[in-house]
Amino acid sequence: MSMGKSIIIDAGHGGSDPGATAFGVKEKDWTLKISLYQYERLKELGAAVALTRSKDTTLDSAARTKVFRGQYDYCISNHWNAFNGKARGVETIHSIFADKTFASQLAKAVSNASGLPLRRVFSKKNASGTDWYFMHRLTGTTKTVIIEYGFLDHKEDHARYRTDAIFYAAAESVVEVVCKELGIRYKAPSEKAAATSLYRVQNGAFSKKEQAEALAKKLTGAGFEAVIVKG
Ligand SMILES: [Zn+2]
Repeated sequence: MSMGKSIIIDAGHGGSDPGATAFGVKEKDWTLKISLYQYERLKELGAAVALTRSKDTTLDSAARTKVFRGQYDYCISNHWNAFNGKARGVETIHSIFADKTFASQLAKAVSNASGLPLRRVFSKKNASGTDWYFMHRLTGTTKTVIIEYGFLDHKEDHARYRTDAIFYAAAESVVEVVCKELGIRYKAPSEKAAATSLYRVQNGAFSKKEQAEALAKKLTGAGFEAVIVKG
Protein backbone atom coordinates (compact mmCIF):
# COMPACT_ATOMS: atom_id res chain seq x y z
CA MET A 1 0.00 0.00 0.00
CA SER A 2 1.42 3.35 -1.01
CA MET A 3 1.51 6.23 1.44
CA GLY A 4 0.66 8.69 -1.28
CA LYS A 5 -1.47 11.73 -0.94
CA SER A 6 -5.25 11.37 -0.94
CA ILE A 7 -7.99 12.92 -3.01
CA ILE A 8 -11.76 13.19 -2.89
CA ILE A 9 -13.79 13.62 -6.08
CA ASP A 10 -16.86 15.81 -5.72
CA ALA A 11 -19.76 15.35 -8.13
CA GLY A 12 -21.34 18.81 -8.07
CA HIS A 13 -25.04 19.29 -7.19
CA GLY A 14 -27.28 16.17 -6.97
CA GLY A 15 -30.74 15.14 -5.80
CA SER A 16 -33.11 18.09 -5.55
CA ASP A 17 -30.38 20.41 -6.90
CA PRO A 18 -29.93 19.68 -10.63
CA GLY A 19 -27.40 22.48 -11.21
CA ALA A 20 -27.59 23.86 -14.73
CA THR A 21 -30.02 22.36 -17.23
CA ALA A 22 -29.72 22.71 -21.00
CA PHE A 23 -30.64 20.73 -24.11
CA GLY A 24 -32.31 18.11 -21.93
CA VAL A 25 -29.24 17.47 -19.77
CA LYS A 26 -28.95 18.12 -16.04
CA GLU A 27 -25.53 19.17 -14.79
CA LYS A 28 -25.85 16.83 -11.77
CA ASP A 29 -25.97 13.79 -14.09
CA TRP A 30 -22.84 14.71 -16.00
CA THR A 31 -20.93 15.59 -12.81
CA LEU A 32 -21.82 12.17 -11.38
CA LYS A 33 -20.90 10.36 -14.60
CA ILE A 34 -17.47 12.01 -14.81
CA SER A 35 -16.80 11.60 -11.07
CA LEU A 36 -17.62 7.89 -11.04
CA TYR A 37 -15.26 7.35 -13.98
CA GLN A 38 -12.43 9.30 -12.32
CA TYR A 39 -13.01 7.51 -9.02
CA GLU A 40 -12.78 4.06 -10.65
CA ARG A 41 -9.70 5.02 -12.65
CA LEU A 42 -7.85 6.55 -9.70
CA LYS A 43 -8.67 3.53 -7.56
CA GLU A 44 -7.36 1.26 -10.31
CA LEU A 45 -4.14 3.30 -10.41
CA GLY A 46 -3.65 2.87 -6.65
CA ALA A 47 -4.71 6.29 -5.38
CA ALA A 48 -6.32 6.86 -2.00
CA VAL A 49 -9.55 8.21 -3.44
CA ALA A 50 -13.11 8.85 -2.26
CA LEU A 51 -16.34 10.40 -3.56
CA THR A 52 -18.66 12.96 -1.96
CA ARG A 53 -21.61 11.15 -3.59
CA SER A 54 -21.95 8.04 -5.71
CA LYS A 55 -25.68 8.39 -6.38
CA ASP A 56 -28.22 11.07 -7.15
CA THR A 57 -28.33 12.41 -3.58
CA THR A 58 -28.91 15.92 -2.24
CA LEU A 59 -25.96 17.46 -0.38
CA ASP A 60 -26.01 21.04 0.86
CA SER A 61 -22.73 22.91 1.29
CA ALA A 62 -22.34 21.90 4.95
CA ALA A 63 -23.09 18.20 4.41
CA ARG A 64 -20.92 18.09 1.29
CA THR A 65 -17.81 19.45 2.99
CA LYS A 66 -18.20 18.37 6.63
CA VAL A 67 -17.28 14.74 5.99
CA PHE A 68 -13.96 15.44 4.35
CA ARG A 69 -12.69 18.91 5.25
CA GLY A 70 -9.04 18.73 6.13
CA GLN A 71 -9.01 14.94 5.82
CA TYR A 72 -7.89 14.67 2.20
CA ASP A 73 -4.93 16.39 0.57
CA TYR A 74 -6.90 17.30 -2.55
CA CYS A 75 -10.43 17.69 -3.82
CA ILE A 76 -11.61 17.99 -7.40
CA SER A 77 -15.11 19.46 -7.63
CA ASN A 78 -16.70 18.66 -11.00
CA HIS A 79 -19.10 21.13 -12.67
CA TRP A 80 -20.44 22.47 -15.94
CA ASN A 81 -21.14 26.15 -16.43
CA ALA A 82 -24.20 27.89 -17.85
CA PHE A 83 -24.64 31.53 -18.72
CA ASN A 84 -26.22 33.07 -21.82
CA GLY A 85 -25.69 30.42 -24.45
CA LYS A 86 -22.77 32.37 -25.92
CA ALA A 87 -20.10 32.01 -23.24
CA ARG A 88 -17.97 28.90 -23.66
CA GLY A 89 -14.79 27.16 -22.60
CA VAL A 90 -13.03 25.52 -19.70
CA GLU A 91 -12.51 27.18 -16.31
CA THR A 92 -10.80 26.10 -13.13
CA ILE A 93 -11.10 27.89 -9.81
CA HIS A 94 -8.59 27.61 -6.97
CA SER A 95 -8.55 29.05 -3.43
CA ILE A 96 -7.34 32.61 -2.94
CA PHE A 97 -4.70 31.09 -0.65
CA ALA A 98 -3.49 28.46 -3.12
CA ASP A 99 -0.80 28.41 -5.73
CA LYS A 100 -2.47 28.30 -9.16
CA THR A 101 -0.17 25.70 -10.77
CA PHE A 102 -2.38 22.64 -10.20
CA ALA A 103 -5.51 24.49 -11.36
CA SER A 104 -3.67 25.68 -14.49
CA GLN A 105 -2.49 22.18 -15.33
CA LEU A 106 -6.04 20.85 -14.96
CA ALA A 107 -7.52 23.59 -17.16
CA LYS A 108 -4.93 23.03 -19.89
CA ALA A 109 -5.44 19.28 -19.82
CA VAL A 110 -9.24 19.50 -20.07
CA SER A 111 -9.02 22.11 -22.81
CA ASN A 112 -6.63 19.93 -24.83
CA ALA A 113 -8.66 16.77 -24.37
CA SER A 114 -12.05 18.33 -25.10
CA GLY A 115 -11.00 20.77 -27.82
CA LEU A 116 -12.77 23.57 -25.93
CA PRO A 117 -11.03 26.91 -25.44
CA LEU A 118 -9.39 27.59 -22.09
CA ARG A 119 -11.50 30.43 -20.72
CA ARG A 120 -9.76 31.26 -17.44
CA VAL A 121 -8.05 30.03 -14.29
CA PHE A 122 -9.00 32.18 -11.33
CA SER A 123 -9.85 32.61 -7.64
CA LYS A 124 -12.53 34.79 -6.10
CA LYS A 125 -12.52 36.66 -2.79
CA ASN A 126 -15.62 37.79 -0.90
CA ALA A 127 -16.05 41.04 1.04
CA SER A 128 -14.73 39.54 4.28
CA GLY A 129 -11.49 38.49 2.61
CA THR A 130 -12.17 34.76 2.50
CA ASP A 131 -12.90 32.52 -0.47
CA TRP A 132 -16.16 33.27 -2.31
CA TYR A 133 -16.79 29.61 -3.21
CA PHE A 134 -17.79 27.34 -0.34
CA MET A 135 -15.77 24.46 -1.80
CA HIS A 136 -12.70 26.53 -0.97
CA ARG A 137 -14.02 28.26 2.15
CA LEU A 138 -15.37 25.18 3.97
CA THR A 139 -12.78 22.55 3.05
CA GLY A 140 -10.01 23.44 5.48
CA THR A 141 -6.56 22.27 4.43
CA THR A 142 -7.93 20.14 1.59
CA LYS A 143 -6.61 21.79 -1.56
CA THR A 144 -9.72 22.09 -3.72
CA VAL A 145 -9.98 22.92 -7.41
CA ILE A 146 -13.36 23.46 -9.04
CA ILE A 147 -13.39 22.33 -12.66
CA GLU A 148 -15.96 23.80 -15.04
CA TYR A 149 -15.60 21.48 -18.05
CA GLY A 150 -17.48 23.79 -20.38
CA PHE A 151 -20.83 25.53 -20.78
CA LEU A 152 -23.78 23.17 -20.73
CA ASP A 153 -25.90 25.79 -22.51
CA HIS A 154 -23.38 26.50 -25.28
CA LYS A 155 -24.30 24.47 -28.34
CA GLU A 156 -20.81 23.36 -29.31
CA ASP A 157 -19.48 22.82 -25.77
CA HIS A 158 -22.57 20.74 -25.10
CA ALA A 159 -22.33 18.74 -28.32
CA ARG A 160 -18.72 17.80 -27.64
CA TYR A 161 -19.53 16.32 -24.23
CA ARG A 162 -22.43 14.41 -25.74
CA THR A 163 -19.76 12.40 -27.51
CA ASP A 164 -18.58 9.74 -25.08
CA ALA A 165 -15.08 9.64 -26.60
CA ILE A 166 -14.61 13.34 -25.79
CA PHE A 167 -16.40 13.12 -22.44
CA TYR A 168 -14.11 10.34 -21.21
CA ALA A 169 -11.00 11.89 -22.76
CA ALA A 170 -11.66 15.01 -20.67
CA ALA A 171 -12.31 12.84 -17.60
CA GLU A 172 -9.10 10.91 -18.21
CA SER A 173 -7.01 14.07 -18.71
CA VAL A 174 -7.87 15.05 -15.13
CA VAL A 175 -6.89 11.58 -13.88
CA GLU A 176 -3.47 12.02 -15.48
CA VAL A 177 -2.84 15.45 -13.93
CA VAL A 178 -4.07 14.20 -10.54
CA CYS A 179 -1.69 11.23 -10.67
CA LYS A 180 1.23 13.56 -11.26
CA GLU A 181 0.16 15.75 -8.34
CA LEU A 182 -0.32 12.74 -6.02
CA GLY A 183 2.98 11.19 -7.06
CA ILE A 184 1.35 8.11 -8.58
CA ARG A 185 2.57 6.43 -11.74
CA TYR A 186 0.02 7.10 -14.49
CA LYS A 187 -0.98 4.42 -16.95
CA ALA A 188 -3.46 5.06 -19.77
CA PRO A 189 -6.49 2.77 -19.77
CA SER A 190 -6.18 -0.16 -22.14
CA GLU A 191 -8.81 -0.30 -24.87
CA LYS A 192 -9.82 -3.69 -23.61
CA ALA A 193 -10.37 -2.38 -20.08
CA ALA A 194 -12.39 0.53 -21.42
CA ALA A 195 -14.57 -1.79 -23.46
CA THR A 196 -15.12 -4.44 -20.83
CA SER A 197 -15.18 -2.73 -17.45
CA LEU A 198 -16.11 0.87 -18.03
CA TYR A 199 -18.73 0.77 -20.73
CA ARG A 200 -20.45 -2.53 -20.01
CA VAL A 201 -24.21 -2.10 -20.00
CA GLN A 202 -26.78 -4.76 -19.40
CA ASN A 203 -30.03 -3.88 -21.03
CA GLY A 204 -32.56 -6.46 -19.91
CA ALA A 205 -33.11 -10.14 -19.34
CA PHE A 206 -35.71 -12.15 -21.22
CA SER A 207 -36.99 -15.68 -21.01
CA LYS A 208 -37.81 -15.74 -24.71
CA LYS A 209 -34.99 -15.61 -27.20
CA GLU A 210 -37.12 -13.58 -29.66
CA GLN A 211 -37.55 -10.78 -27.11
CA ALA A 212 -33.82 -10.63 -26.50
CA GLU A 213 -33.18 -10.54 -30.22
CA ALA A 214 -35.70 -7.74 -30.69
CA LEU A 215 -33.97 -5.59 -28.08
CA ALA A 216 -30.55 -6.41 -29.51
CA LYS A 217 -31.79 -5.27 -32.91
CA LYS A 218 -33.11 -2.04 -31.41
CA LEU A 219 -29.77 -1.34 -29.66
CA THR A 220 -27.76 -2.12 -32.78
CA GLY A 221 -30.02 0.20 -34.72
CA ALA A 222 -29.33 2.96 -32.21
CA GLY A 223 -25.58 2.51 -32.66
CA PHE A 224 -24.83 0.32 -29.64
CA GLU A 225 -23.03 -2.97 -29.61
CA ALA A 226 -25.39 -5.73 -28.49
CA VAL A 227 -24.44 -9.22 -27.40
CA ILE A 228 -26.95 -11.84 -26.32
CA VAL A 229 -25.75 -14.02 -23.48
CA LYS A 230 -27.64 -17.11 -22.37
CA GLY A 231 -27.37 -17.40 -18.61
ZN1 LIG B 1 -22.30 23.52 -10.97
